Amino acid sequence: MSVRDLVILGSSSQQPTRLRNHGAYLLRWNDEGLLFDPGEGTQRQFIFANVAPTCVTRIFVSHFHGDHCLGLGSMLMRLNLDKITHPVHCYYPASGKVYFDRLRFGTLYHDHVNVIEHPVSSEGIVHQDEKFTIEARFLDHGVDNVGWRVTEPDSYKFDKEKLDSLGIKGPMVREIGEKGQVLVQGKLIKISDVSSVRKGDAFAVVIDTRYTESAVKLAQNAKLFLCESTYLERHRELAEKYHHLTAKQAAEIAKKAEVKQLILTHYSARYQDLSEFQKEAMEIFPHTLVADDLLVFPFPK
Ligand SMILES: [Zn+2]
Ligand SMILES: [Zn+2]
Repeated sequence: MSVRDLVILGSSSQQPTRLRNHGAYLLRWNDEGLLFDPGEGTQRQFIFANVAPTCVTRIFVSHFHGDHCLGLGSMLMRLNLDKITHPVHCYYPASGKVYFDRLRFGTLYHDHVNVIEHPVSSEGIVHQDEKFTIEARFLDHGVDNVGWRVTEPDSYKFDKEKLDSLGIKGPMVREIGEKGQVLVQGKLIKISDVSSVRKGDAFAVVIDTRYTESAVKLAQNAKLFLCESTYLERHRELAEKYHHLTAKQAAEIAKKAEVKQLILTHYSARYQDLSEFQKEAMEIFPHTLVADDLLVFPFPK
């Protein structure tokens, strides 16, 4: 089975600290590496995390404030250096195309990686295949800023007794699995008649926003929900002023969206003790963990 986890490559906001790098988050899932918001120094954080950058297949930039994208150019340079052969899909708010280009072509290097750009100009599905559906929604950060939701399709587990009783075997099992139905002695049998459904897992990431219902929609029933909490409640007025969330507000979103697990991140450099974030959020939503640099959160099926 492929690795399924979330690697925290950095957890700071605008300003890194001695202990926390600019943010960057790697979701390893279904043989892909989805890299969210590569801040400055992301390339080196891969080394500390003991993860090969070559696993990256898709890069998501929520918006073009430096802490979310300054590592984009160096990551692409690194993937060129590593001579990867797979394409790298890049998703970002379309209005930031000029910044994407500057970051991508900011230095001299041998550019041979197949970078496929997906500028996002409207909300909705930005990618869909048999492994994932990826959805984008705009958040409330004063600049174009996108949150993401990655969902795997529902899968079916066959009930062997039901298959046997209806005489479905061999190639017919494959057919019903592929087409969702099969004709047995003139009778149409649907996959739901002979199986139980396993809901596909979902991962949502909301970084840099004020409270918005779009965040709730992205996070709805997600198994893992990575959410910014730049501030604590005692600095609520700063959160409002700079278009960010407090830990309490992140927990309110998680609660309303009925997620399984909330993971907080993107902390202001003013805070040293992250346990305060967990404590504040857990009063609203108990299933809260705090991200910190190089932590790995498992994401089991
Ligand atoms: Zn930020
Ligand atoms: Zn920002």
